Amino acid sequence: MLAVRKTSASPGVTLDHIQEPKSPESDQVLIEVEAAGICGSDVHVYEWTKGYEFMQSKLPVTLGHEFSGRIVKIGSSVSGFEEGDLVTAMPSASCMRCSDCVGGAPHFCLHRQTIGLTKNGAFARFVIAPSMSCLKLAPSTNPVLAALIEPLAVGDHAANVADVKAGDTVVVLGPGTIGQSIICAAKWRGASRIIVVGMNDASRLAIAHAMGATHSIDLSANIDLTAQIKDINNGRLVDIVIEATGHASSVQTGLDVLKRGGVLVCAGIHSIPASFDLTSLVRNSQQIRGAHSSRRRSWEIIADRLSRDPDVFKPMVSIELGLKDAVMGFEKCLTREVSKVILRPN
Ligand SMILES: [Zn+2]
Ligand SMILES: [Zn+2]
Repeated sequence: MLAVRKTSASPGVTLDHIQEPKSPESDQVLIEVEAAGICGSDVHVYEWTKGYEFMQSKLPVTLGHEFSGRIVKIGSSVSGFEEGDLVTAMPSASCMRCSDCVGGAPHFCLHRQTIGLTKNGAFARFVIAPSMSCLKLAPSTNPVLAALIEPLAVGDHAANVADVKAGDTVVVLGPGTIGQSIICAAKWRGASRIIVVGMNDASRLAIAHAMGATHSIDLSANIDLTAQIKDINNGRLVDIVIEATGHASSVQTGLDVLKRGGVLVCAGIHSIPASFDLTSLVRNSQQIRGAHSSRRRSWEIIADRLSRDPDVFKPMVSIELGLKDAVMGFEKCLTREVSKVILRPN
């Protein structure tokens, strides 16, 4: 089968023909992929920026961790799934043996394996997943939109870490898919103002508006961001900033618009260290938190919303491409002319 793979620790991806996976192990399922999204982290892997060195010992590996598909084969000990079920899967699986896993914090497991990063992913006709990572979707769920559940869950988790409450003013730095997902989550929690900030980002800012942002600011216009945000927020700095840019400089940008005692959550993956004014952070009692990946509860909430109200999520998908056009898809993501690119292997 054709597969989009990372084969070496250098920029680019390779389109290879590889063996189809045969039978799943006893606790696994074999999934025929319906749709798989190109994630911001896939683009980092494509460019081979810093922060993905952990993949090096796992290469070659098929990319693709945001996906939906139908189960075509079931391992002997799997229960709760049938052939033909439409599913998505949480890409990271914990070992369930280490002290974190046994102690009830499997999301902190240091031995996690991630579909599409450390083991073969969904940019191919078939992918194998542990059944405990899979989430069965309502049969009527749109499979292309179902590939958005992973980034939407990441956004929901970031909003949880930020503890967004009704009435809050939230600034979202970065209007990409994770930023759009954070906007959805902030809206669901009743944030009264959601201000999204981009840089030369007209088309993605428009999508961010469609997803619930109340205001957008494009920094390409060389404006005073703090003044603009105070203008929007009745002269005040904001309650919460969530960063989804991956640009280290955005940490200081976020702190500059955050109120005393406010919370800044970093959700981007940064290839260089950030430098920011720590004295000002201390004197203003500001909090910085990191949010990574997601929890199963977010997946369940989003899968339910997506099956009941699919139209809400349609603006997030820009184009669908076949696997052979994957490189074009990566390039389109890099230029930010599109938001989410979905690959359809079949
Ligand atoms: Zn992703
Ligand atoms: Zn573990």
